[in-house]
Parts: sequence; C-alpha cells; structure tokens
Amino acid sequence: MDHCIFCKIINKKVNSEVIYKDKEFVAFKDINPKAPVHILVIPQKHIESVNHLKETDKELIGGLILTAQKVVEKLGIKDKGYKLAFNVGKGGGQIIDHLHLHILGGWETEEKMHIQKIP
Ligand code: AMP
Ligand code: ZN
Repeated sequence: MDHCIFCKIINKKVNSEVIYKDKEFVAFKDINPKAPVHILVIPQKHIESVNHLKETDKELIGGLILTAQKVVEKLGIKDKGYKLAFNVGKGGGQIIDHLHLHILGGWETEEKMHIQKIP
C-alpha cells in the first residue's frame, strides 16, 4: 500500500524504532507514547482493521498476539503485566488504517496505570 505509513515503516521508507521483526510481523515504538512502554505490533500484510479480518487470517491474528508476547518478554514487562488494545474504525479511535496491536505498560504503580488515558 503506497500511501500507508505503516507499510512505509515495514519497507523502511519511514524511520521507526524497531523492537522486533520477522517475515510476518514488525513491532516498533509508538511515536507519541501514551504509556512508559508503548509498542505497536503490525502484520507485514496490509489489512485495514479488525473489521477486515477473514477466516483465513486466523493464523495471522494468533501470530500477532504471540509476537506481542515475544516483545513484552524482550522488554522485561511480561511478568509485571501490560495492556493489549485494538482501536477499530474512526469511532474506536483508529487513525492509521493498517491493523495494529497496541502494547502499553511499564507504569511504576497501579495508580499511574489507572489515571493514564489509553491508548
Ligand atoms: P490508532 O489510533 O489505534 O490508529 O493508533 C495509531 C498510533 O500510531 C498512534 O498511537 C500514533 O502515535 C502512532 N503513530 C503514527 N505515526 C507513527 C509513526 N510514524 N511511527 C510510530 N508510531 C506512529
Ligand atoms: Zn499498510
């Protein structure tokens, strides 16, 4: 997708801080973090949103969540806990139309986690 910023990140036409990459998925730091740790995990395949997933994407969506698990392990927040979120469509706060899973975490205290507006 030529005009998609996340496809451009995958193709290195736009810079980002990549945390993890394999042949199916990329995880990178959110440019405007809403938590001490804020990572986006995306499939390399351009799919607009959760609403656009098909039966044939079952493995892809499972892989996306398992990639998030690898990322939190790498960043050392797996045992502490974190949030995973999909914004879906304009009414759900989705501004980038390339499926992405938000990983949010790294708060010092539970209280700080509850007062943070996310994502
Ligand atoms: P959403 O509102 O769910 O569509 O989330 C899109 C997220 O992408 C937002 O949290 C943005 O801060 C983030 N974002 C937009 N452009 C970039 C970029 N070039 N690099 C990293 N994150 C980005
Ligand atoms: Zn895309």
